[in-house]
Amino acid sequence: MSVDLSRRSLLFGRKPAQEPVNVFRPPWANERFTDICTRCAECITVCPSQVIVKGDAGFPEIDYKYGECTFCGECRDVCQPKALSAEDPWHRHVQIGAQCIAYSGVDCRVCGEVCDTAAIKFALQVGTVAQPQLNIDACTGCGACMTSCPTAAIQMLQAK
Ligand code: SF4
Ligand code: SF4
Ligand code: SF4
Repeated sequence: MSVDLSRRSLLFGRKPAQEPVNVFRPPWANERFTDICTRCAECITVCPSQVIVKGDAGFPEIDYKYGECTFCGECRDVCQPKALSAEDPWHRHVQIGAQCIAYSGVDCRVCGEVCDTAAIKFALQVGTVAQPQLNIDACTGCGACMTSCPTAAIQMLQAK
C-alpha cells in the first residue's frame, strides 16, 4: 500500500525546519532529534512523571507544569529509533524571576526544599527574609522547583 504523504503531513504536521529555542525535548534528545523521532509517542506513554507531552507536529517535549523529570531513563530505553541517545540528558537550568515572593519580604523556601542537588540555597539577609541563591552549575534542569513554586517565578533556560 502506498503512503499518501500529503495525508501523513496532515496527520503529523510538518517537522520544524529548526528547533525552536523555547521547546524542551525529552532527556538525551539526539542533535538530529526531529529527523530520527518517528512521533510514535512511546516515550509519552512510558514516562512515570507524565512530563512528556505531544508538542508541535506531534514531536514529544517536556512540559514542566506537569512535574519534574527524575532522569529515570525509561523514555530513553523505550525509544526504538534511538532519538534519545545523546551522552548528556540536556544542558538547561532554571532562573528565578522577579515574581519570587521572597524578594518582596515573604518567607518562602519551597524551591530550596524540593531541590535534590541543593542548587537553590537561602542566604540570610539583614532587614528581610532569606533570599534564594541559585547555583547554576548544580542545577540539573529537573524542574522540581518550577512545579513547586507558588508564584510560577521560576523559568527554564536552555544552557547552550
Ligand atoms: S527520564 Fe523518566 S521522568 Fe524524565 S522524561 Fe524520561 S521517562 Fe520521564
Ligand atoms: S518557591 Fe518560588 S516564590 Fe518561593 S522562594 Fe522559591 S522562587 Fe521564590
Ligand atoms: S531545576 Fe531541579 S536541580 Fe535545578 S534548581 Fe530546580 S529543583 Fe534544583
